[in-house]
Amino acid sequence: MLYIFLGKPGAGKGTLAEYARIQYSNKKKDLVYISTGDLFRAICKLETKLAKEVKQTLEEGLLVSDDLTNRVFLEKFLQYDNNSNFILDGYPRTVTQAKFLQETIIKHNFGTCKVLYLDCAQKVLIERICGRRICPKCSRVYNVVSKKPKVENHCDFDNELLIQRMDDSKRSVVTRIKVYEKDTEPLINFYSELGILEKINAESTPVPEIFKKVFV
Ligand code: ADP
Repeated sequence: MLYIFLGKPGAGKGTLAEYARIQYSNKKKDLVYISTGDLFRAICKLETKLAKEVKQTLEEGLLVSDDLTNRVFLEKFLQYDNNSNFILDGYPRTVTQAKFLQETIIKHNFGTCKVLYLDCAQKVLIERICGRRICPKCSRVYNVVSKKPKVENHCDFDNELLIQRMDDSKRSVVTRIKVYEKDTEPLINFYSELGILEKINAESTPVPEIFKKVFV
């Protein structure tokens, strides 16, 4: 099964993914997590011209080109067995990418898809994102208001000093939300028409409940 997460920045895609990974691992079931945002952040650390361009795109809150995104995604995706369970977080983000994904699924015989649309009001999204802190070592996500670490500013698991993502400034968040509305929102229709979209109120539904409702 492929779980595709749709939702504006801050809607809780990463948090749900982390919860699902723990639940699957407790049951000794595999769950591959692919986040194109994480893949791009890894590219940003390289000393190449491409890395510089990608870094600038991310900082501005804009989308990386479909062509590069599809290539980066495909390289990662095809490393895994086609009967694994997957969470795709942040991919696809445009109709072009969604069509590419559908073709890839058919061509390489990957399983069926479920698309989760995590819906959340803009005011809440901005509050969540501006308070977000990340562990640079294990990528666990915290929040200065709603999910504080046990020791202030340090990761509960490896004690690393938490950082703010370079694109979590208010300016970049507002751009990312606008970009989402223009480029990614059309995917809601695209997947509704395929009959595989499930809309969830991500403001009022607790993560364990979303998990129970959607994951098999
Ligand atoms: P968020 O969902 O909080 O915006 P992500 O970690 O998913 O964060 O993505 C961070 C950035 O990486 C995006 O703002 C964009 O620049 C780039 N990116 C991630 N996924 C894609 C994609 N599918 N297509 C184009 N750009 C992407």
